[in-house]
Amino acid sequence: MANRLSEIKEWNILLLEAGGDPPIEASVPELDGDLKLSKYDWQYLTTNDGVIDQSVINGSVNWPRGKMIGGSSNMNGMVYVEGNDQDYQNWYNAGNLEWSVQDVRRCFKKSQSYQNQRLLQDEAISKHYGRNGPLALNIFNTTYRQVTEKILKSWDDIGIKNVPDVNTANVMGSSIVTATAANGARQSSNHYEHKEITSKVMSNGNMMAQLGLSNYGGCYK
Ligand SMILES: Cc1cc2nc3c(=O)[nH]c(=O)nc-3n(C[C@H](O)[C@H](O)[C@H](O)COP(=O)(O)OP(=O)(O)OC[C@H]3O[C@@H](n4cnc5c(N)ncnc54)[C@H](O)[C@@H]3O)c2cc1C
Repeated sequence: MANRLSEIKEWNILLLEAGGDPPIEASVPELDGDLKLSKYDWQYLTTNDGVIDQSVINGSVNWPRGKMIGGSSNMNGMVYVEGNDQDYQNWYNAGNLEWSVQDVRRCFKKSQSYQNQRLLQDEAISKHYGRNGPLALNIFNTTYRQVTEKILKSWDDIGIKNVPDVNTANVMGSSIVTATAANGARQSSNHYEHKEITSKVMSNGNMMAQLGLSNYGGCYK
């Protein structure tokens, strides 16, 4: 968001962040679990409402939220699902005229840098994803693809048909998930176009972000 706002050249953007720079675990997929309940997590607990989570002590569960530059994008599951057209149509129908399916898809596309060369051979996938945006997307590296293939076949067998890519298929079907990960590393909101937002501690102890600003084009009409 700060990066996008900075595209308006006459504006000065100050990004205030309660946490500090993310640790190395944030960059390595699967190590994000170590950040939960650490100083990089706000460590929220849900309130016991007497109905849900009654099987756990105090009826309350941890509710992780990132407390670092890049926020929760540095500890999330990296699963990249765009949503179904009908979701956005409902928002539009409710009176949000700038959230039409076309507008939302155009903005998604502008933000994306889809990098899976094998899947890009598929014309529909190639047309669906943007290639020049700041957010790199790919599928996860894995050594257990044969297990994934078996699970996918099971979905297919029970009618949730395999598709080359769920986003391209309007989230109808099953496929290997697209991830905000590329070249084995997490792609968080503080990393884009090989630039990084890092922080500076202000004299009063707060953090001030240093923006490695890009010239990434905006999504304005
Ligand atoms: C464990 C986990 C797994 C997830 N998995 C997925 C997934 O696989 N796919 C997916 O699409 N989404 C996932 N999400 C959700 C996704 O990460 C969030 O929706 C997204 O990061 C929200 O972005 P945001 O910028 O709105 O907020 P955040 O990323 O939470 O950023 C808010 C920032 O503001 C800072 N802040 C808050 N209060 C203050 C204050 N008072 N002063 C200064 N700074 C403050 C915080 O420290 C934080 O850095 C997951 C989230 C979590 C926590």
